Amino acid sequence: MRKISLLGATGSIGRSTLDVLRRHKDEFELCAAACGSDTHGMLAIVREFRPKMVALYNQKSALELSKILAGEGIKTEVLSSEQGVCECAIAPGKDGITLCAIVGSAGLPSALAAVKNGITVALANKEALVMSGRLFFDEARAHNSRVLPVDSEHSAIFQCLPSECQDTIGFCDLNKAGVSQILLTGSGGPFLKLPLEDLAKVTPKQAVSHPVWSMGPKISTDSATMMNKGLEFIEARYLFNAPDHMIKVLIHPQSVIHSMVSYKDGAVMAQIGRPDMRTPIARALFYPDRADAGVEPFDFTRAPSMQFMDPDFKRYPCLKLAMQASLEGQGATTALNAANEVAVDAFLSGRIGYPDIASVVSDVLSSERPGTVYTLDEIMQADRAAREAARKAVEERAC
Ligand code: NDP
Ligand code: MG
Repeated sequence: MRKISLLGATGSIGRSTLDVLRRHKDEFELCAAACGSDTHGMLAIVREFRPKMVALYNQKSALELSKILAGEGIKTEVLSSEQGVCECAIAPGKDGITLCAIVGSAGLPSALAAVKNGITVALANKEALVMSGRLFFDEARAHNSRVLPVDSEHSAIFQCLPSECQDTIGFCDLNKAGVSQILLTGSGGPFLKLPLEDLAKVTPKQAVSHPVWSMGPKISTDSATMMNKGLEFIEARYLFNAPDHMIKVLIHPQSVIHSMVSYKDGAVMAQIGRPDMRTPIARALFYPDRADAGVEPFDFTRAPSMQFMDPDFKRYPCLKLAMQASLEGQGATTALNAANEVAVDAFLSGRIGYPDIASVVSDVLSSERPGTVYTLDEIMQADRAAREAARKAVEERAC
């Protein structure tokens, strides 16, 4: 049995992963799980899977869970704080796998801890790469850790690349593999057709109602602004060692194709399937094999007709900001990510309007000029400075 640790176990990706694990109880042992503060979500996981250890970042929630478990006579060890989450990240050991699905920058320390311990990492937490891409892959190479993408577009690209590239993720030679372009597709979110002047009136409820995917509130808002595609642009750059000019963002509202790779001879490889995260999760967990993920087969006779278009940066200024930050480097992408997290949080709690998300991020990027950003300390310092600047920008706009 292969050991697996699930970080972000109570979230949307966490639940989809548990569903895949339930179908393969003889192949995987859930040895550790971590979340933020959802005591009851974690309690249900412990009762069902009996992991050796769990961590809740929030100390009060961790204490509450340990009391309940003691009352039920369950021996699972309950840890807390970032250190506890990092211990869960390394629990599977070198032959195991850690699935990183904590949302936002909070997921970086534990993902890095897994990589530094030579563990295979199935990575959903794209923010970790946006913040630390170069360091992340340098550490992965130094410690012989394999990184497998879980984000659906990156899983699609991974599947469309030859095995030499799959085996050298982070350092692959796309030119040698004959690749001419990576085509990163996105649905365009719920406001693809909304008149531009109506964007100012958009509510959090409308923003999190994604037309195709069912996801957590932060990534759903990022999908509406297409910041998600911007973060994925940066993620693709690091995962596939791709220069910016080799990645093209394409809007594809039906989300039938999950991304494509275009080759020099004119061939285009596409990965097609239902929009269900269990497919890319299973691809990473069972790699290089394939296994049942509980996903219905794709029915071509009932598929919608497919459309493709270039993104309009007036509608999606966040995408443009992310692509610019990508050109500037890790200091700018870290600042972009931090500012976006603060702005999305302020939007979801009703403090700023929808168009303010892009303007807060833009203000922070034009004011913050971090120097060299490579080590974890430098990244966290750039992250803190950008958050501070973003909070000020939010205050100036607060409704
Ligand atoms: P959710 O908001 O649904 O879940 C987030 C998870 O992170 C929860 O388990 C939450 O715990 C946990 N968490 C939050 N803060 C901390 C912390 N400080 N320490 C430990 N755990 C913490 O998010 P999603 O599942 O939607 O997304 C997770 C990641 O996967 C994101 O990076 C996202 O971009 C990426 N992703 C998601 C996709 C999707 O379809 N949902 C698709 C592709 C990528 P708690 O419940 O206790 O708050
Ligand atoms: Mg994605």
